[in-house]
Amino acid sequence: MDMKDNKTGASSKRIRHIIALSGGKDSSALAVYLRGKIPNVEYVFCDTGEELKETYEFIAKIENYLNISVTKLRSIKNFKYYLDLYNGVLPDARTRWCTRMLKLKPFEEYIGDDPVINYVGIRADELHREGYISTKSNVKTVFPFVEDNIRREDVLRILQESGLGLPRYYEWRSRSGCYFCFFQQKREWVGLLENHPDLFEKAKAYEKFDPITGERYTWNQDESLDELSRSERIAEIKAEYEERKYRQAKAFKSHQKLQDIWGAEDFEDDVACTICRL
Ligand code: SF4
Repeated sequence: MDMKDNKTGASSKRIRHIIALSGGKDSSALAVYLRGKIPNVEYVFCDTGEELKETYEFIAKIENYLNISVTKLRSIKNFKYYLDLYNGVLPDARTRWCTRMLKLKPFEEYIGDDPVINYVGIRADELHREGYISTKSNVKTVFPFVEDNIRREDVLRILQESGLGLPRYYEWRSRSGCYFCFFQQKREWVGLLENHPDLFEKAKAYEKFDPITGERYTWNQDESLDELSRSERIAEIKAEYEERKYRQAKAFKSHQKLQDIWGAEDFEDDVACTICRL
């Protein structure tokens, strides 16, 4: 990428190299994998202000392990501000205003008009995944794991060998991102309830019902968090999850060990935004 300085039209601007960490396993493994290979890397974390404390802990662990400083990028306006702006309509997989306003916008403001190479941790075994490809002409996105045929098992090995391991939330959740992320599976909502009841209540408080129009603004289209948190429903969700895990373990025998670690959902197509999820 060779860009002329807009002001002088003479010299090329220095290319910036950026790895955006999400607090998830793939971007973390990418940072470890690229250690020492790229000069002057800038590490950033797009912080929505609605992250799990385990995510912050893991980011701090990476900083310590790599001896780096991760720049936390935050929107000036918070989630509640944008929720009000969108008339209380919660974000969903179609609109994703949360990603645009709380992650992508601060990221694009941070890089400005500088020429940037953005390193993204999409793996060779998930080419179907949607990535953050900036429409800005000054950003070039590259996929080192795809280029080097790094797959899920390699990512696990990289993290294990580094001693970083996995973020603690992987015990009950298969993705990084906001505690209320609408991409969560039902069993992950149950995990949130059991591990962070306070955050579950906060997520619940964002749901609204209009008694006049009958309109429901809920994180899940088919049930509210209040409905989901009833004991009989929790038992049902857990039973469905075990059943699905059993079926998938049979279908993916060679991956059974990984399934035990990550949970069955991690083997399903994932449509979540990579800037949040990787
Ligand atoms: S993690 Fe989920 S809720 Fe948070 S910004 Fe990303 S898509 Fe939106």
